[in-house]
Amino acid sequence: MPATASLRHLLPDPPPGAVTRFAPSPTGLLHLGHAHAACFAAALAEAAGGRFLLRLEDIDPTRCRPEFAAAAEADLAWLGLRWDGPVRVQSRHLPDYRAALDRLAARGLVYPCFCTRGAIQREIAASGHAPHGPDGPLYPGTCRRLPPAERAARIAAGEPHALRLDMAAALAVAPPDLSFHELGEGRLRCDPAQFGDAVLARKEVPASYHLCVTHDDALQGVTLVTRGADLKPATHLHRLLQALLGWPEPAYAHHGLLLGPNGRRLAKRDRAPTLRALREAGRSPAEVRDFAGW
Ligand code: GLU
Repeated sequence: MPATASLRHLLPDPPPGAVTRFAPSPTGLLHLGHAHAACFAAALAEAAGGRFLLRLEDIDPTRCRPEFAAAAEADLAWLGLRWDGPVRVQSRHLPDYRAALDRLAARGLVYPCFCTRGAIQREIAASGHAPHGPDGPLYPGTCRRLPPAERAARIAAGEPHALRLDMAAALAVAPPDLSFHELGEGRLRCDPAQFGDAVLARKEVPASYHLCVTHDDALQGVTLVTRGADLKPATHLHRLLQALLGWPEPAYAHHGLLLGPNGRRLAKRDRAPTLRALREAGRSPAEVRDFAGW
């Protein structure tokens, strides 16, 4: 069990009336790391006299399962969390994300990418250098250079494709001085170029995390995005998408990650203790909140 002291006294000051959210992806049962993130978001909303929302980021049908979504709601309720308004379930809103992609496409800011993972790896290996971004090796831009007629023909033939942001084109039309406000740190400059031509829709998934999360934070009126520090780099890309799509800028509070006994962050693959297992072992919600640092 990770040893934690209550973190409540370490909370940064939220903006008055802040709207926060907890947005898990239901790829498994929630564990203590999720409890920490959820309590962080709820505590900041409470401290701000604001609202706390719940969103299920189940856009990836290859990884998410409805039973984990149902379990997430039940486990959070058991933990004593109460969220405001209905739960937003991303998989029920695919046309919303499509519409946002269409707006970017109409301005020539996204392009279809037909490359397989293997083809990208071979191309990177052949080029002799492989710059990495927060999401992995940067895409070498192969499909960005396809002639429009070839693109159209391949799409018409039904060839599976992803949609990528044309980063250079996007940066050319975005404000040059993008930044974000991190509670407790102040304004931090953004460097979205580190992502290269980021994937905004995958072959088997109609929209990417980056697109859906920024879309929904805007739609749901989230004014303070809270999440683990592992996602802080993603904020650089999210600010760019917000600027391109005319969405408001929230403030950010990235929290530290709970570490397991091996010193690594708690994760499903390392069999982090699930809330379900702790509950079945007779732990009370108060004890589990305490384990999670609250
Ligand atoms: N769904 C993401 C996850 O479970 C979190 C998204 C976010 O808070 O921005 O890692």
